[in-house]
Amino acid sequence: MRRLRTAFQVLVVAAVAVTGVRHALGWSMTTIEKYCPFGGLETAYALVTRQKFTCAAGELNLALFLALILLTLLARKAFCGWVCPLGAVLEWWGRLGRRWLRFSSFDGWWRPSDRTRKVLQTVLRSVVLAAVLAATWATGELVFRGYDPYYILFSAHGHDVMFWSYFILGGLLALGLAMPMAWCKYLCPLGAALWPASKPGLLRLRRSPDHCTECGACDDACPQSLPVSSVMEVRSGECTLCFECTAACPVAGALELRAPGGKP
Ligand code: SF4
Ligand code: SF4
Repeated sequence: MRRLRTAFQVLVVAAVAVTGVRHALGWSMTTIEKYCPFGGLETAYALVTRQKFTCAAGELNLALFLALILLTLLARKAFCGWVCPLGAVLEWWGRLGRRWLRFSSFDGWWRPSDRTRKVLQTVLRSVVLAAVLAATWATGELVFRGYDPYYILFSAHGHDVMFWSYFILGGLLALGLAMPMAWCKYLCPLGAALWPASKPGLLRLRRSPDHCTECGACDDACPQSLPVSSVMEVRSGECTLCFECTAACPVAGALELRAPGGKP
């Protein structure tokens, strides 16, 4: 599963990067925004109130967002761990940071308690989401583009990307070295929007206390810094079903994927 996930991430990153460069060179009219599900949420208000889509967003964005909600109800934030190209790049970047700066876990230089992490995630991401939606809905424009690390990274200096946009991207990358996946964990507005569907997600990892030695390898391996070794089931709405914890677990049968009602 781990290799399959990495292969999938590489394919998506390559496809989005090629799309961005082709558009920037004038070889294609297709922009990287066309396949962004967050655009579907951004345009929802304008569609309801003005019966028209917001700026570059359209039917495909809305369909992708609705499909993403269905996927999330089933497989939690699997989109973040398997499909999101920004999530993939930041995860790889965070691994480099862990190697260079010798962090034992994806917490980086600061290991917050589970409660602090949840509060920060809820507050910071909700503020970002509310600000982006309010600005988009008020102006009818995708005003987030110049600040959006996904757009700055993959659009090949696309429309609305200014010189200061690269400072934002550079700052996030610096933060991502010290605190791997900081954007995904604490700031991503799509992550905030998906959480209500992800929390009751059907698929979850279950830990078997009969097999588990409580070695903590799963905790250190989790890119979302979830406390896997101290719960019976990973019910967190942050789990991306990335299977890094199962790959790190040295005991067969200690950590397995289950649907609700499945045998432990
Ligand atoms: S890595 Fe496996 S054995 Fe170790 S604490 Fe996690 S579930 Fe238990
Ligand atoms: S709990 Fe396991 S599957 Fe879920 S995000 Fe953490 S490492 Fe990935």
